Amino acid sequence: MTNAIFNEEPYLQQLQTQITAVDGQWLTFEATIFYPLGGGQPGDIGELICANQKLQIVDTRKGSIAGEIIHQVEPLEHNLKVGDKVDLTLNWQRRHRLMRMHSAMHILCSLIPRGVTGGSVGELKSRLDFDLGDHSVDKQTLTDRLNELVKAQHPVEKQFISEQALSENPSLVRTLSVQPPKGCGNVRLINIQGVDLQPCGGTHVKNTLEIGELLINKIENKGKRNRRIHLSLVNP
Ligand SMILES: [Zn+2]
Repeated sequence: MTNAIFNEEPYLQQLQTQITAVDGQWLTFEATIFYPLGGGQPGDIGELICANQKLQIVDTRKGSIAGEIIHQVEPLEHNLKVGDKVDLTLNWQRRHRLMRMHSAMHILCSLIPRGVTGGSVGELKSRLDFDLGDHSVDKQTLTDRLNELVKAQHPVEKQFISEQALSENPSLVRTLSVQPPKGCGNVRLINIQGVDLQPCGGTHVKNTLEIGELLINKIENKGKRNRRIHLSLVNP
């Protein structure tokens, strides 16, 4: 099991750790600050230094064993081995944008009291799909309300809830297509105070102000009931 440091310290940009497994281009470390693809958020990228070798980390995924995180390195040819000490550095500009975007998705969720059917967090553009039914949305109104919530400086905090308590409060789960991980005892909730509370394993900013100005670019029709809402950072 990889020690997933980003859960507790999403702002940590560098870490010294050691290699615990090597499978060609894919490396596992004792601990990592790299978030693996999941919950609509892409895997982190960055670099690794070992002795005098510098390699790029071009993707991060969940491994085949529960709790394992694997990192894809380039170039393919390297002589890294288990036990080597490595220095990891995140591509922080990209990750911080993803944290801002991901947090923005939560506040967008709070403005539309309908089921989320899909979504994808991008560095510059994100999208969230809703089963809107007869609920109507308007680009300008949504943009204005999002920016009000950003400026209101709501703290973003973690909380934990037992799986049982969560199953007794199914309304906490907003995503119809993604269920929170089961079998780990407690489920992590992200609480944007006074705005939104839902289970989430992604990385978020500390305060909504840090997201910066947002823009709803487009609301796309995806069938009779479904709408795809496109969102971007005005100042990436
Ligand atoms: Zn989240």
